Amino acid sequence: MSETAPWKIVSFYRFLPLAGSELGAIQERWKELLAENGILGLMLLAEEGVNATLAGSPEAMDMVMRALCDEFSIPVERLKESFSRARPFKRLSVEVRSEIVTLKRPDLVPQDQDSSHLSPEEWHQLLLGEEEKIVIDTRNSFEIAAGRFPGAIDPGLTSFSEWGEYLDSALIPRDKTVMIYCTGGIRCEKAILEMRARGFEKVYQLQDGILGYFEKVPGGLFEGECFVFDDRVAVDQDLKPTQKFGICPGCGLTGSIPKTCERCQVGYFVCDSCKSTWGTLCSKACKSQVKKFRVS
Ligand SMILES: [Zn+2]
Ligand SMILES: [Zn+2]
Repeated sequence: MSETAPWKIVSFYRFLPLAGSELGAIQERWKELLAENGILGLMLLAEEGVNATLAGSPEAMDMVMRALCDEFSIPVERLKESFSRARPFKRLSVEVRSEIVTLKRPDLVPQDQDSSHLSPEEWHQLLLGEEEKIVIDTRNSFEIAAGRFPGAIDPGLTSFSEWGEYLDSALIPRDKTVMIYCTGGIRCEKAILEMRARGFEKVYQLQDGILGYFEKVPGGLFEGECFVFDDRVAVDQDLKPTQKFGICPGCGLTGSIPKTCERCQVGYFVCDSCKSTWGTLCSKACKSQVKKFRVS
C-alpha cells in the first residue's frame, strides 16, 4: 500500500505501571486529544500499561504517536505501521480495563524486555535452523485458519483465557525449544509467563508478532494472511487489506465466501452460516433499497 493512502494505522503496546487512581484522567486526556485530531480506533488502559490500534491521516498519526511514545516511553521501532484506503474503524474508543490483553490474570505482568524476545530476523533464522523446536500459535483457531507459520500448532483456543488450560493438558516436553507467536506480540508477553510458571525452560516469543514479521522480513516463511481487529479484517504479507475475507453483512462476523451485490455490483464476503439465508446483497442498505423498490 502506498504511503499516500489516506489512513495510516499504528498498533502498539507497552507494559508499564500506571497508577489506578490516574487512569480516569489519562483516559479523558487522550480521548480528547485523539478526537481533536480525527483519530479513530481502540485504546486500552490498565494498571499494567497501554495497548492500542489507532488510525488517522498520516500527519495526524505522526503527531499523536510522538506524544504517545513520549508519555508511555514506547520506542519508535516498536510501532507497527500499515496503510489503508478504506476507513479501518467506525469510531474512537479509549477504555479503562483490568488488563490490556485478556488472560484473566491481571497478576501476571511482564517486566522489562528479556532474552525470550526474538526480533523478526532472529525468529526467521531460528525457524530456518536445524535445531529441533516446537512452534505454537497463541491466537484463536479462527485466526490460525487464515494463516500460520509452517508446522505451527493450533492449540484450539476460542479465547486467550484458555491458554493455561491448554498448557496443562498438552503434552509438550518442558525441556524442548518452544517458539510462540501471535498477531502483534502482546499475547505472547503473558503467554510466556504462564509457560514459565509450568516449568518450560527454553521459550522464545516473536517480538511484535506476525505484523512485525511482515514488516521486517518481507517474503518470509508465514503462510497465508493475518487477522487484525479493525474493519480491514485481515492483512496480507505486504500489510495490505485482505482480498480474501470481509465482514459478513448478515451477522457482522468474518465472511470468506465471495459474492457480488446484485444491486450495486460491489464485491463482499458472506459467512458460512449466512450464505443460504442472506441473499445476494452487500449490505442492509442495499437490502432495504431493493425491498422498497419491490414494494412500490
Ligand atoms: Zn454471517
Ligand atoms: Zn450493494
